[in-house]
Amino acid sequence: MYKIDSYDFKGKRAIIRVDFNVPLDAEGRVTDDTRIRAAIPTIEKVLEGGGSVILMSHLGRPKKNNDTKFSLAQIIPAIEARLGRKVLFAGDAMGDKAAEMARGLKPGEVMLLENLRFHAEEEGKPRGVADDATDEQKAEAKSAVKTSQKEFVKRLASYADCYINDAFGTAHRAHASTALIADYFPHDKMFGYVMENELRAIDSIMENPRRPFCAVLGGSKVSTKISIIEKLMEKVDSIVLGGGMTYTFEAALGGRIGNSICEPEMFPVALEILRKAKQKGVRIVTSPDALIADAFSADAHTSTAPSNDIPDGWEGVDIGEEGKRVFREHILGCKTILWNGPVGVFEIDKFATGSRAVAEAIAEATDKGAYSLIGGGDSVACINKFGLADRVSYVSTGGGALLEYMEGKELPGVAAIRKS
Ligand code: AMP
Repeated sequence: MYKIDSYDFKGKRAIIRVDFNVPLDAEGRVTDDTRIRAAIPTIEKVLEGGGSVILMSHLGRPKKNNDTKFSLAQIIPAIEARLGRKVLFAGDAMGDKAAEMARGLKPGEVMLLENLRFHAEEEGKPRGVADDATDEQKAEAKSAVKTSQKEFVKRLASYADCYINDAFGTAHRAHASTALIADYFPHDKMFGYVMENELRAIDSIMENPRRPFCAVLGGSKVSTKISIIEKLMEKVDSIVLGGGMTYTFEAALGGRIGNSICEPEMFPVALEILRKAKQKGVRIVTSPDALIADAFSADAHTSTAPSNDIPDGWEGVDIGEEGKRVFREHILGCKTILWNGPVGVFEIDKFATGSRAVAEAIAEATDKGAYSLIGGGDSVACINKFGLADRVSYVSTGGGALLEYMEGKELPGVAAIRKS
């Protein structure tokens, strides 16, 4: 494995797996180019070193080839605007044009392949198998796509002299472009800067955090966060619990939660988490009060209630004023802060003030010297919405990948580069 900083790109064609899965408006214009901006330093490093670049990515979840709604051609203007250079478009990743264009690439040139997920081989999952297909037919389809996947990977690899994985957001998938292709470059594979920075940021807080270390965890459900809560319990001094999942905890403890979101099947898990936290000396901080609404909409009536005494017909949609104060004070006392998941329904402005208070407290703590890492799609959306991304230490580009890496799982995209 090479470090991108020490690799000699002179005269080399680098195939870079980027994460250009960006949001588009109805006209196909990029509405948030964060992921494109993030990839620029890696692309420039190759070009400045005298190499050329072949960019590959997925976009959305197309179910068939050439679905123009998912064509990466749409994002070329956005890449060119950030890169300040022309980007050649190769069309279909498997076409003769792509191969020819890659062969003829001159130092300083950049080309983009069409959406990799136009091919079932990228994910290695069969398509078009009828629901009523027999197990045998399903197994056959699976085996067929695995076979053609080998050709797909070989062809992609044939375009380049070295491989860079810079797509942290898909590193938890064992796909053709995120993991399998690395085998073709045993001596010429490396992480790009996005990946390097992500791994460094996460490793540093998981291995050697400055204390007190607190995790602010929100989001809608306990069920999707159990493994990360359990893992974090081994590392943190406190967990600030917010969002919809708190009501499962309140209800499990016998509280009244009205119509708040709740997973009764998770009651035993919630109680076990509280028991373990006590045993390990991890403080669990919850909001004493909730902002409650009589409907899940922007024009709902709102009021405040204790988090464990919400009247019927009402649901908790955010933390209350007392909760904002408690969370802020706690966060300001910490030296390392990890934030995953909004503490309220932040998509509706009226229910976003708790998440804003958390974001502001984290920014303030960071100003005072704390290290803060924001991860997971919704908390990143929050920090951007409140214009505070520049005032935290690190904003992760990975949602699922970040959580899996923190849980201690080996990510296929990371392992493929690291293994010798
Ligand atoms: P997650 O993907 O699990 O991190 O959850 C994020 C989602 O949780 C966001 O869409 C929020 O709107 C939602 N959420 C946060 N607080 C609540 C709540 N009190 N009730 C319902 N949904 C919530």
